[in-house]
Amino acid sequence: MSRILITSGPTRQYLDPVRYLTNSSSGKMGCALAQAALSLGHEVVIVTGPVELEYPSAARVHHVLTTDEMLFTCQREFPQCDGLIGAAAPCDYKPISVSEQKLSKTGESLKLELWETPDVVATLGATKRSDQWTVGFALETEDPHFRAITKLERKSCDLIVLNGPDAMTSNQNSIELLNPQGAAILKSQGSKREVADQIMAVIEKNLIKASQVSSQA
Ligand code: C5P
Repeated sequence: MSRILITSGPTRQYLDPVRYLTNSSSGKMGCALAQAALSLGHEVVIVTGPVELEYPSAARVHHVLTTDEMLFTCQREFPQCDGLIGAAAPCDYKPISVSEQKLSKTGESLKLELWETPDVVATLGATKRSDQWTVGFALETEDPHFRAITKLERKSCDLIVLNGPDAMTSNQNSIELLNPQGAAILKSQGSKREVADQIMAVIEKNLIKASQVSSQA
């Protein structure tokens, strides 16, 4: 039995008290992965941005708003976990300044200046122990394999799930699971739960059992 950390859903970056940047991630893939991992007997810790759905009650769930909060919470939880699945879509940018008051219209154009946010998967991947594993997601619209493999390397992932933009809000998904050599070791299509079961089966075989064997050697 492993303890698995799953990031899920979008994050929000506020411009003022009522307006924010975000994306349309639903958290459905993270939720399906949590169900799949629990059904295999693993312990699950979820760090999620704001979503409409309910996560399985057997999982421990931390709710966060911003990408920095997601990273902070994951950094606290990851040392006690065996692996990470980064299924969230954290905002990549945050406004350089956040107005304390609601921004009013001035009749002029408004220029937003943004900083890059930290990358949760890359930060955890860079400091993972040899007995820990990380699996990232890549949502690509052009040159998908090359971009996904580049991401796998940059974020020190053991495997990466490649999917397309249709995955964001849908109940269905169509994915390829790529290894560091660039090979698709799984192609899966169906409901997010069906796809999650297949991804978890590969993680069990390639990362969980493999790390148990190497720690016994
Ligand atoms: O946004 P990008 O396509 O680079 O996301 C790929 C992977 O990195 C996903 O697993 C996502 O959860 C993760 N990510 C992250 N922190 C970010 C951006 C992305 O953990 N700020």
